[in-house]
Amino acid sequence: MDQSTLFSLALGLTPPWEVWSVRFSLEKRRLDISIGFPMGSLFTCPVCGSKEAKAYDTNEQSWRHLNFFQHKAWLIARVPRVECDKGCGVKKIDVPWARPGSGFTLLFEALIMAMVKEMPVAQVAELLGVHDTRLWRIINHYVPKARESMELSKVERVGMDETASKRGHNYISLFFNMENGQLLFATPGRDKETVKAFAEDLTAHKGNPEQVKEVCCDMSPAFIAGVTDNFPNANITFDRFHIMKLINEAVDQVRRDEAKTEPLLAKTRYIWLKNQHNLTAKQEKTLASFEGSQTQDRQGLPYAVGLSGAVSMLYP
Ligand SMILES: [Zn+2]
Repeated sequence: MDQSTLFSLALGLTPPWEVWSVRFSLEKRRLDISIGFPMGSLFTCPVCGSKEAKAYDTNEQSWRHLNFFQHKAWLIARVPRVECDKGCGVKKIDVPWARPGSGFTLLFEALIMAMVKEMPVAQVAELLGVHDTRLWRIINHYVPKARESMELSKVERVGMDETASKRGHNYISLFFNMENGQLLFATPGRDKETVKAFAEDLTAHKGNPEQVKEVCCDMSPAFIAGVTDNFPNANITFDRFHIMKLINEAVDQVRRDEAKTEPLLAKTRYIWLKNQHNLTAKQEKTLASFEGSQTQDRQGLPYAVGLSGAVSMLYP
């Protein structure tokens, strides 16, 4: 098997397309694969679908392809405009390895989409040596397309939370399907309107806000008002993370206040905040000394000890 045939097979080219030459430049660290078609080849007319359209003229184009080991690889082809005998005019054909108008092959775009799921776009841009504007163009093509076909008729349990795109600024609200962790909707903001926007988007994707039975969120009054207005049949559950955060803050505040008058509580912060089975041997001993005092002298027991005990009963 010669080199060109090997590359034709590896690229999955089908007639009339075939690899004509493969040039590798070590200096430029790139591989150029030239693709062509034999004279007199017939193409599919993009207007009427006739398989007998003949090349009218050609125009050279190139596409970035998957790396060849550590080297950049490019496909280069003279893409024909074709003329069919049904009078459809002279039209440029679509090549099978790339989307019309894209400077990347479909496989390279698939690689980009897989990578941007796992890491920031700026990082992917750096790794692949592609400007991030070009990556965003690809993302903005595929993501709305994938969302268009999202079918959300079975959504009944929703989780919502907010995150900041920059520390303390630009809030984004995220909505998840609690059954499978799927991200359903994301939108800037964190007010009542964001919940309404989610309800509208759900409806647009065959979901039904009245069918949502449970919404899990933090205790933000805006979220709660949004849920009450837009999801009439949903019970609201506050998620454990936010409740634990509030309780831990309360326990710590009590400990701080009491530590001012109770020297025994100095340097015991984590004893009250950690799960009992995560304590070190030393911490366990200190905790036990408090529990000992509990049986002997309930009156003298610091309030934090009692509160911490109550928390560990609620959330063992
Ligand atoms: Zn035609």
